[in-house]
Amino acid sequence: MSTSYTVDVIAGDGIGPEVVPAAIACVDRLAELHGFAVDWRERDWGSEHHRRHGAMMPEDGLEQLRTGDAIFLGAVGAPDIPDHVTLWGLLIPIRRAFRQYVNLRPVKSLPGRPGPELDMLIVRENVEGEYSEIGGRYGQGTPDEAAIQEAVFTRRGIERVTRFAAERALERSGTIVSATKSNGIIHTMPFWDEVVAEVAADAGVRVDSVLIDALAARFVLAPASIDVVVASNLFGDILSDLGAAIAGSIGIAPSANLNPEREFPSLFEPVHGSAPDIAGRGVANPFAAIWSAAMMLEHLGETDAAAALERACFGALADGVATADLGGEATTAEFTQAVLGRLSDM
Ligand code: ATP
Ligand code: MG
Repeated sequence: MSTSYTVDVIAGDGIGPEVVPAAIACVDRLAELHGFAVDWRERDWGSEHHRRHGAMMPEDGLEQLRTGDAIFLGAVGAPDIPDHVTLWGLLIPIRRAFRQYVNLRPVKSLPGRPGPELDMLIVRENVEGEYSEIGGRYGQGTPDEAAIQEAVFTRRGIERVTRFAAERALERSGTIVSATKSNGIIHTMPFWDEVVAEVAADAGVRVDSVLIDALAARFVLAPASIDVVVASNLFGDILSDLGAAIAGSIGIAPSANLNPEREFPSLFEPVHGSAPDIAGRGVANPFAAIWSAAMMLEHLGETDAAAALERACFGALADGVATADLGGEATTAEFTQAVLGRLSDM
């Protein structure tokens, strides 16, 4: 009897419904080749759900997802709905409810692109830090108006994300780069530095603690000198978009929102958004979605299939098939066909 996985699919908005079928087609092909099965449960959640029902997902949405093995998401967001509504109405509740405290974002250079070879792993803390509800707006309408936003860092939160990064580094360079700002942010960041150093020493990896401003410059000037990065929620978010940009395009960057203990489903999604400017034209790059699906297969334990999918994706590019964001002329469907073709030839 073959293994069967249940995956909840939230294709979402904009180019989400264009790139998600590409990823599903690749996984289905691999399922045939590697002898496993995937039951895709499609969820029509997102902006249209919000327009109709006043919420991004049903009230019992989290309960519905809880019974699956993984969640695959395209993109959520639309020009008529504020960004914070989409984020706090869907992604953040899922990350928190399912204890997805690691946001893993690999960055690799693309075949044929000029510049140094890149192979980074950005480990972003995903459930606490600067993204917090604590704070408020005060004295509205007066000249003394102010806003206060608290950041929440816990020892447990810093320890577990650093441990994850350290374990990855042990299989790689043995060093983690930690993003900090302890010269300007005098409570949370010194605490972050202290706990990161403790966990790293315990795990037997070196820490290179770098101020976020200097680290951003290093990403641009010497990205090949960086291996595993561990960063808070906000810093990690910024660094991973920067990483995607220096690798070539936001259209290639994948991400995994992981619950490493596997108590709950993890969520896999391309880093890019709904890209309303190119939606509906069939030209979106499905690379990020397909690579995210490879990360999902790896997490589910289908490591051979995951490696084959990543190879096929990079291989299609090496063959010269590329979408417009990478300077090519291929459509979403053409790039997907190239990947499927490589999978069948393996
Ligand atoms: P959101 O609010 O949903 O995050 P956004 O407009 O802030 O949307 P993206 O949707 O990521 O951010 O789009 C940023 C730019 O990158 C846009 O010009 C978009 O067309 C382009 N882009 C994003 N994803 C892709 C993709 N998969 N293929 C090609 N171009 C893309
Ligand atoms: Mg955006």
